[in-house]
Amino acid sequence: MSVIDLRSDTVTQPTLGMLDAMASAPTGDDVYGEDPTVNRLEAELAQRLGFARALFVPSGTMSNLLALMAHCERGDEYIVGQQAHTYKYEGGGAAVLGSIQPQPLEVQGDGSLDLSQVAAAIKPDDFHFARTRLLALENTMQGKVLPLAYLAQARAFTREHGLALHLDGARLYNAAVKLGVDARLITEHFDSVSVCLSKGLGAPVGSVLCGSVELIAKARRLRKMVGGGMRQAGGLAAAGLYALDHQVQRLADDHAHAQCLADGLRQQGYSVEPVQTNMVYVQMGDRAESLKAFAAERGIKLSAASRLRLVTHLDVSSGQIEQVLSTFAEFSRN
Ligand SMILES: *Cc1c(COP(=O)(O)O)cnc(C)c1O
Repeated sequence: MSVIDLRSDTVTQPTLGMLDAMASAPTGDDVYGEDPTVNRLEAELAQRLGFARALFVPSGTMSNLLALMAHCERGDEYIVGQQAHTYKYEGGGAAVLGSIQPQPLEVQGDGSLDLSQVAAAIKPDDFHFARTRLLALENTMQGKVLPLAYLAQARAFTREHGLALHLDGARLYNAAVKLGVDARLITEHFDSVSVCLSKGLGAPVGSVLCGSVELIAKARRLRKMVGGGMRQAGGLAAAGLYALDHQVQRLADDHAHAQCLADGLRQQGYSVEPVQTNMVYVQMGDRAESLKAFAAERGIKLSAASRLRLVTHLDVSSGQIEQVLSTFAEFSRN
């Protein structure tokens, strides 16, 4: 029985084409800047997203951390969503390792931060306060795509207030594919962007941080400091390059599968939030644990949250979506 894993889009296995590309990639010592494949990935993504430089790092968590630490000094502050990955899901790294204070704000229904609330949270220049330096957004945010018009407003707003603007674009390409635009139309509004290769793009490992020459030079020093300097990393970079060339447009399939899953569950009477990209949120209340066990016996891996997140990806087919729907139907009959 092949397992259907809907817990996250991080669980994908490399495809045969990707494994081929990894096996044949030329490599060198990347800490010396001598891995040709890492250099190619960095140049390619910087060019695609409209930045001067890029840096390959082991994880999205490290990419965001380096960005925060490159933008902010000790005693500075970043404004961020209460539910954002860069605040809630990174072990408090910015505070622990960067001595950077987060100022979290509630995320709005569309995944954005209310800019008037951001304005109210910016600290005046006064020695009682941390120095507010940076606004960090996330796109997609729990599967929601931030509108391009909002990004333009956020850019104008941060310019006006002298703040830098960072994007946690772990799922940047889901947003771009959903909007049907070149990813550059999203990234052009930001001073730095972190992109995960290991989520929907389907690479086994890695993220890329994009920014200016100065920002990436700082981030490169910080990467070494936190132990993220990798040596013959070209095989991993090759997986990322392969994903960028072959596994971007197919994200539309994941979005269609998520929509299909949501429609089917709604027809069965489940309460399902509107779907935009590859995430379906279902209200399971106190049945989440028993559903998880029920599904596991039928080869389906789920989380156990009462607001259950189902994530579609490269390794979930339309036939398997039908299988998942049958399992939910069987569960509600029990
Ligand atoms: C997964 C994720 C990250 C971090 O990526 P890791 O590689 O797991 O450290 C950052 N931001 C968002 C929104 C994510 O979903």
